[in-house]
Amino acid sequence: ERQAVVIDGKACAKEIREEIAAKVEAMKSEMGKVPGLAVVLVGTRKDSETYVRNKERACTEAGIESFSSRLPEDISQEELLKVVEDYNSNDQVHGILVQLPLPKHINAELILDAISYEKDVDGFHPMNIARLALKGRSPLAVACTPQGCLELLDRHGVTIAGKRAVVFGRSNIVGMPVSLLLQQRDATVTVVHSRTPNPKEICLEADIVIAACGQAEMIQGDWLKEGAVVLDVGTNAVDDPTAKRGYRLVGDVKFSEAVQRAGMITPVPGGVGPMTIAMLLKNTLQSAQRSLMGDAI
Ligand code: NDP
Repeated sequence: ERQAVVIDGKACAKEIREEIAAKVEAMKSEMGKVPGLAVVLVGTRKDSETYVRNKERACTEAGIESFSSRLPEDISQEELLKVVEDYNSNDQVHGILVQLPLPKHINAELILDAISYEKDVDGFHPMNIARLALKGRSPLAVACTPQGCLELLDRHGVTIAGKRAVVFGRSNIVGMPVSLLLQQRDATVTVVHSRTPNPKEICLEADIVIAACGQAEMIQGDWLKEGAVVLDVGTNAVDDPTAKRGYRLVGDVKFSEAVQRAGMITPVPGGVGPMTIAMLLKNTLQSAQRSLMGDAI
């Protein structure tokens, strides 16, 4: 029976982080400056705190200076806007990230729009999305998880041009940008969403499957074409009394079955997940390079 190559996203991310650390070191010795990333966390959600801590730690390891604001849940929209604007005008900060979700009384769109387009290392600013979608234009930063997916394909020698790709999900942060990226690279892309009537039939035609629909183990082994490349973005907690925390993480793909049919597959955890932070560091470094080159002109 076929056994897919299991893509080690953790190892790949580590390699990229080391490449970034070397570039940061070079910037420091040549220009006496390092990239800076500001992370803004509102409230005390446990998952958000973990994400923010991981991002800060990754910055430190790469030599990127991290600035952070941990703000109370009841901060007003005006006060939060002021925090973002201060980072916009701080020239040691090259990237600004506001951890989502924000509390209900705050208009998240308004806050994200306030982040200067040059410092939008998440790639969520409407200007960056627009440039991603327009032919012949390029964004300053591409959303981290979608970019991480493409990087995994490239680093594993997967041909994208001319292939049939199916993306499960059409969210602003994963599905939509990843489908645009695949199209740019000359794949023929089908986007499957919650109102798509025949997802299995569509999936069976795909050479490349990107699963980002947040539905635990929805994509089963017999949905896949033999030899398909499967990237599983889904991160779903399912109850598991035998696990220490009482739950375990599974993807949107039923791994045990899919690994018998696919040519390559990412596990959950340890697949796409670690790539997201690596791409955040990459976007921050690029933003710093752009800003310092601008200074030199
Ligand atoms: P959203 O909930 O924003 O979007 C989910 C998308 O999946 C929607 O477009 C929805 O369709 C579609 N969908 C829902 N149910 C089905 C279904 N039964 N069949 C087909 N499509 C369906 O999620 P995100 O995009 O934010 O995240 C997707 C998954 O990826 C989650 O599990 C999340 O945890 C994970 N994730 C992982 C990251 C990482 O590894 N670093 C980063 C970000 C997310 P519709 O538009 O019709 O509602």
